Amino acid sequence: MSTPAPTFPAPGTVRPDDGRALAPVAFATREEVGAAIARARAAQPAWAATPLPQRQAAMLALGRVILERRAEILEILNAETGRSPLECLVSEVIGTLDFARSANKVAAAALATEKVSLSMVDHPGKRAYIEALPHGVVGIIAPWNYPLINFYKHLFPALLAGNGVVMKPSESCPRTGAWLAARCADVLPQDLVQVVQGAGDVGAALLTEGIDSITFTGSVATGRKVSALAGERLVPCTAELGGKDAAIVLADCDLGRTVAGIVYWSIHNAGQNCASVERVYVEEAVADAFVQRCVAAVGTLRVAPQDGTADLGPLHTAPQLWLVEQHVADAVERGATVLVGGQRTGSGWGYAPTVLDHCTHDMRVIREETFGPILAIVRVKDAEEAVRRANDSGYGLNGSVWTKDLARGEALARRLQVGVSLVNNHAIPAIMPEMPWTGVRGTGPGVANSRHAYPAYVRRRGVLVDSNRQADPWWFPADANLAAFAEAVVQRSIGSFVGALLTLLPLLGKRQKAIREFGGG
Ligand code: NDP
Repeated sequence: MSTPAPTFPAPGTVRPDDGRALAPVAFATREEVGAAIARARAAQPAWAATPLPQRQAAMLALGRVILERRAEILEILNAETGRSPLECLVSEVIGTLDFARSANKVAAAALATEKVSLSMVDHPGKRAYIEALPHGVVGIIAPWNYPLINFYKHLFPALLAGNGVVMKPSESCPRTGAWLAARCADVLPQDLVQVVQGAGDVGAALLTEGIDSITFTGSVATGRKVSALAGERLVPCTAELGGKDAAIVLADCDLGRTVAGIVYWSIHNAGQNCASVERVYVEEAVADAFVQRCVAAVGTLRVAPQDGTADLGPLHTAPQLWLVEQHVADAVERGATVLVGGQRTGSGWGYAPTVLDHCTHDMRVIREETFGPILAIVRVKDAEEAVRRANDSGYGLNGSVWTKDLARGEALARRLQVGVSLVNNHAIPAIMPEMPWTGVRGTGPGVANSRHAYPAYVRRRGVLVDSNRQADPWWFPADANLAAFAEAVVQRSIGSFVGALLTLLPLLGKRQKAIREFGGG
């Protein structure tokens, strides 16, 4: 079922928890986006020439200043997202120094110059190496669901690699991005990190105004547009997109812990997490007990009370609330049962944490990203059916199996077509900077965190120095000796090495003579 969308307040203009107005933020013009890129570009070469240990020290200073001034950012996050300061601290702020340390730890290896080993027989006198060079100015476009961490997890490796950065926050969380840019200005060279505010057209302007590389986090639909525009301009682009994560609950799981873990990863941040558990496949044998416990647990959760004890905040925007309502209505129409929740709550965009039982694969809540506090349960015959259904998705971010049999769980988890497979947990690698965060299918191939994030922030340059006083045997002129030489090289590869060498050696001399004559002696 789908009804026409009503009109909503402009993004970022009101608090999601109580609808109070927020101070307006000016949007950048196209010219201002170009000017921001130019400022970062002017600051970047000196930064790239700064020794890595100094860049690493600056990352620690950035992580530290964010933590030290946490009260300020928690207040901004609370106003822009409606989540409690405690929730914001735990999911976004607490890890800043850990992310800086982790990016620092792998930087030297990830950015090292590689020596190339060349055959002295085939390439005498030549030496070569591969450098890792910054792209120049990297654009980072982030969504609203975690408006701080979705910047800094990319900022650290981008800056360590020697790039300048222009950030484009979501128009509904501009103040968080502005605060982060101000902290960068506190500890980094002037102009190295810029922020441009505005809607999607400002994000697109990063590409049209000449950014050198783009890191995009957001929805599949926008990710396709950004990737296409980057492709047209041959600008490197990395995209981390939506999810529709599955959790598989086996009959032998530790039921209490499994319910606690799955409820948390379904409903945390009101389900507005790219790696929320959006589909639970539970084996029939344990389904009744699992559902019963989920209903009891979810029923205790508190949404956005102003006393600071909320388990979760409201939905971030009115369109998001409307979408969640559409998904629940569609599921009910197709036979799902709402066991708890299923309606709005509070004075803002709050939606009561909801358990939907008897979901099926024809429902939007199982096929499309819902991004709401919905625990949608599909009952399955066995683990085989669960794996098959889990893989029947256009997305592939995290996937988990919950069981006491760790070996079986691991084997099943590794059959899930996802970027991160887990046993008895879900999504936790998002706050482990040592673990790569990546996906397949619609989730996109971008990689954040760990040393595997660095390829997005460097280009490679091969350097070759030739000290050979002899000319290469392949150069002009193309004479009969060249044909015989080429044939002998083929024979050396597929036939007798020694025999071919004996043929090659006299030919080399003849080729040198011909090439020298060609070059004028
Ligand atoms: P959107 O795709 O709507 O927006 C993401 C960012 O792109 C915003 O800053 C947005 O600006 C900007 N943008 C919009 N249109 C364009 C355009 N044409 N060119 C350039 N930039 C543009 O995503 P949401 O903000 O709604 O975020 C939620 C989505 O992000 C979910 O699908 C979620 O799964 C995904 N996500 C994925 C993560 C991952 O690691 N895989 C992590 C976190 C979220 P504005 O908001 O102002 O329109």
